[in-house]
Amino acid sequence: MIVIDSHRHKGLRHKLVKELERKGIKNQSILNAFRDIPRHFFLDVAFADWAYKDVAFPIDADQTISQPYTVAIQTMLLEIQPGDKVLEIGTGSGFQACVLSYLGCKVYTIERQKTLFDKTELLLKKLGFGRIRTLFGDGFQGAPRFAPYDKIIVTAGASELPRKLFDQLKVGGYMVIPYGTGDVQKMLRLTKGENNTVKKEDFGDFKFVPFLKGVNI
Ligand code: SAH
Repeated sequence: MIVIDSHRHKGLRHKLVKELERKGIKNQSILNAFRDIPRHFFLDVAFADWAYKDVAFPIDADQTISQPYTVAIQTMLLEIQPGDKVLEIGTGSGFQACVLSYLGCKVYTIERQKTLFDKTELLLKKLGFGRIRTLFGDGFQGAPRFAPYDKIIVTAGASELPRKLFDQLKVGGYMVIPYGTGDVQKMLRLTKGENNTVKKEDFGDFKFVPFLKGVNI
């Protein structure tokens, strides 16, 4: 875990932000998050430079930190308002949770891999990101104790749409979830309407590690 941020890292971040802009990300708050959050803190020291390439990268327990562009798109689709209560499934490195916290959300984030959970919980504490509550457990169950949520973001590829999560969403709330039964998932945004109605929008193909049931201790 590195906690030194240098001019060189800032320069690399600046380049990454330019790249995200070129790829069509226009939301200034999201771009500011990428400019300000030292993404290399979320990777092992030896791979620090990979933090600022627009690629997914392996972290512990055979998982990945999502590609920056994917984080930007999922965050954009959530249409975050400061103060939103957001549930994230798949804490992973903790980077996405920090982006949401940076945007003023109160974040609840669940991870099923114990080793990764312990490591990331420690990192988030050390970085001092406020308003992120880390939870160890199976994301399929959500976190009913803190429901309802304004927004839910799933950062693992789901082969079924988790009903229990949808139930924990406020009316008018969004769930952004990569969904598909093959190697590639469609990025869906589900909007919860009155009487449990749902509007589905499709934002194209993405590739995620699988959304798995149960926990891994
Ligand atoms: N948001 C993360 C992306 C991590 S990859 C980041 O910013 O780095 C997806 C994560 O989802 C993995 O860590 C994986 O272990 C986790 N995951 C998969 N199925 C899960 C489940 N049922 N509950 C909680 N986490 C899950």
